Amino acid sequence: VVGLSNVHKSFGALKVLNGVSFEVNRGEVLVLIGRSGSGKSTALRCIDRFETIDSGEIVVCGHRVSDPKLNLRALRQDVGIVFQSYNLFPHLTIEENITLAPCSVKGISKAQAKEQARRVLAQVGLEDKLHQYPEQLSGGQQQRAAIARSLAMQPKVMLFDEVTSALDPELTGEVLKVIEALAADGMTMVMVTHEMGFARGIANRVVFMHHGKVHETGPAAILTSPATPELAQFVGTGL
Ligand code: ATP
Ligand code: MG
Repeated sequence: VVGLSNVHKSFGALKVLNGVSFEVNRGEVLVLIGRSGSGKSTALRCIDRFETIDSGEIVVCGHRVSDPKLNLRALRQDVGIVFQSYNLFPHLTIEENITLAPCSVKGISKAQAKEQARRVLAQVGLEDKLHQYPEQLSGGQQQRAAIARSLAMQPKVMLFDEVTSALDPELTGEVLKVIEALAADGMTMVMVTHEMGFARGIANRVVFMHHGKVHETGPAAILTSPATPELAQFVGTGL
């Protein structure tokens, strides 16, 4: 569903992605880990075409992301992305936040969109927050609402970039539960997280980025028995 092949990306003289390749199959969860600055967010942003790549190829749900003739709207319908900060529109209610894109981008009716808003909010356990504004919700609830908003577009792939790193441990748990349920439901996802315990439980594949490259990759077990000293140091087992 998602494939990166020899992707290079620089910001000026700074080489951030230096030949990155990985694949995610349908229904798989890929967890992307690595030190600050190793290029994790940049890799995610390239997948959703928030950044353009210098060379290599990215294919997502049949869209050739690096193709100049890419249908960006179609790509963004298939791929949902949730960031660390919630990015909900503060002046809109939760329902309005969720119905906005399905109505304007997909052109579905207001009634249908509202129906769907109820469904996705139930999915994240917030069915009672339809008419509240973002500021009336806790951080964890806002993040769940942001996930619901993405789900309303019925994406085929979800990208999560450190969605819990701004949250207290207690609120982190409720957001991770929502992501776990999505995974169990068969959603294909790529997530950047520092929650190693969670990563071990959910990842079909782990990609450890180091200096803009995939330094080590494998099943979740590499988190407990890393092959390279760099990953060992990262997960703190001190090989
Ligand atoms: P973190 O764990 O801190 O989120 P990361 O692995 O997500 O780190 P990136 O955000 O991908 O790292 O950034 C990789 C490098 O690219 C960093 O050195 C960063 O400063 C740089 N960078 C990212 N975006 C830009 C940009 N738009 N312009 C210039 N430099 C950038
Ligand atoms: Mg990042």
